[in-house]
Amino acid sequence: MAKSRFEYVKMFEQLDRCLPNSWIVVRIDGKGFHRFSEQHKFKKPNDEQALSLMNDCAKSVLTNFSDIVIGYGQSDEYSFVFKRNTETYNRRASKLLSTVVSLFTSNYVFKWTKFFPTTELLYAPSFDSRAVLYPTTQNLRDYLSWRQADCHINNLYNTCFWKLVLESSLNHQQAEARLKGTDSAEKNELLFSEFNINYNNEPEFFRKGTVVEERSVLLDGGDGEKVVKQARNVIAAEHVDIIRANFWKSHPSLLG
Ligand code: ATP
Ligand code: ATP
Ligand code: MG
Ligand code: MG
Ligand code: MG
Ligand code: MG
Repeated sequence: MAKSRFEYVKMFEQLDRCLPNSWIVVRIDGKGFHRFSEQHKFKKPNDEQALSLMNDCAKSVLTNFSDIVIGYGQSDEYSFVFKRNTETYNRRASKLLSTVVSLFTSNYVFKWTKFFPTTELLYAPSFDSRAVLYPTTQNLRDYLSWRQADCHINNLYNTCFWKLVLESSLNHQQAEARLKGTDSAEKNELLFSEFNINYNNEPEFFRKGTVVEERSVLLDGGDGEKVVKQARNVIAAEHVDIIRANFWKSHPSLLG
């Protein structure tokens, strides 16, 4: 195609090709979801439908980007890990993070009624996005551990906070004051002594967040006459510990 005299402006574009041989993590996070969750009457501290919607959007992202090896989500955020040698979009950070976040967001709206059949979507939600590079597999594992530890800390706090508000009739300021300066042992003790709750028995969905990953499974297939097992790739979602080594030992190919 003939070049116009305006073509030179293309040179103003920044090169943003990610460093080779490093893990690319794209993390998206809901903008203003404190307010969004209130306006759409999310159950506190954890609305299961809202989390399930996030997970379904994440599955669509993995289906569309074959080079994403794993995703981890909690609250209004999701992290997506591209394999370290991906050439998707020539490794351009802006292309990767913008297509992931727009696909996630459009799915969030597209799938809304499936998870909230009786709650009207009051306005168009948005998510921010960033791309971060991790040069070693240990750095990447520490990144994922950081996000899961964050899930744990927030969920323990929120579980206490909403018990105090919903069952002990404290207002938000009183509940905040009650929890100020407490460590996790004290929060566990508060839940146990005042509400008879063993935090470790709370659902793993809330305590651990969600890991999504593509996995090959054997499913029944065939032409109807005789059933044969066929390997199929499915996107699996699990609520498991990814801080300890066990998960990675049982999924050796993920970061291989
Ligand atoms: P920002 O735009 O800076 O991200 P934010 O209001 O989204 O601001 P976050 O730190 O991202 O703040 O926190 C997200 C908030 O959304 C949580 O604190 C919680 O109040 C709410 N939230 C997200 N998911 C759920 C859920 N499944 N159930 C209940 N509340 C939720
Ligand atoms: P990429 O993912 O690389 O952007 P693309 O298929 O989106 O690939 P573009 O160069 O962005 O390619 O071109 C967008 C294409 O979408 C156009 O070539 C045209 O075929 C189609 N298109 C976009 N808008 C319209 C429209 N309003 N009416 C008809 N066709 C359209
Ligand atoms: Mg947010
Ligand atoms: Mg994959
Ligand atoms: Mg958040
Ligand atoms: Mg286009």
